Amino acid sequence: MARYVGPVCKLCRREGMKLYLKGERCYSEKCAFTRRPYPPGQHGQGRIKLSEYAVRLREKQKVRRVYGVLERQFQGYYQEASRRKGRTGEEMLSLLERRLDNAVYRAGFAGSRSEARQLVRHGHVKINGKRVDIPSYVLRNGEKLELVEEAKKFAKVLAAVAASEKRNPASWIEIDKAGLSFTIKGAPAREELNEPEIREQLVVEYYSR
Ligand code: SF4
Repeated sequence: MARYVGPVCKLCRREGMKLYLKGERCYSEKCAFTRRPYPPGQHGQGRIKLSEYAVRLREKQKVRRVYGVLERQFQGYYQEASRRKGRTGEEMLSLLERRLDNAVYRAGFAGSRSEARQLVRHGHVKINGKRVDIPSYVLRNGEKLELVEEAKKFAKVLAAVAASEKRNPASWIEIDKAGLSFTIKGAPAREELNEPEIREQLVVEYYSR
């Protein structure tokens, strides 16, 4: 599946908040949003009043960008979520959270979701003992993920694990940081998904307009 390869700091500036797309840099003073907290472009500093449609559109774009998913695939998550019994917005977030690249990031084995995606794409991840190289793979309860032996020595991985101490651990993942493995032990809790703040109801309203 294709992915966005353009400049990412612009995305944070467009959405008016940090989306944490660049790992450690996001927590440093070099963060572009910290230095220029207004939308990119010539009219970025002008005053703009957003219409109701634009507010919903921006929220949808924000969630999509946080998880690094392109429009068509994102619509697929919405449709799948709307077929489920629970609240559509929460079900959609639950599906996105359980993506393999996101779970590797949440476990702290990568500094950002794009770094996690690269680990997966390059075959450095095993699920229940089998290599899986599909970032959009949706993890199920009880599945155990482990980095392959070679990847356990990568400087980037070790740096990410050390840096992840600053982040709150995901309660739905049982992490073994020494063994660089984790097991999925339940559904992602909605209240944990607040960095950045997400208003999933607006995304639902955007698609059901
Ligand atoms: Fe760039 Fe990260 Fe700052 Fe966003 S939060 S502007 S990705 S450094």
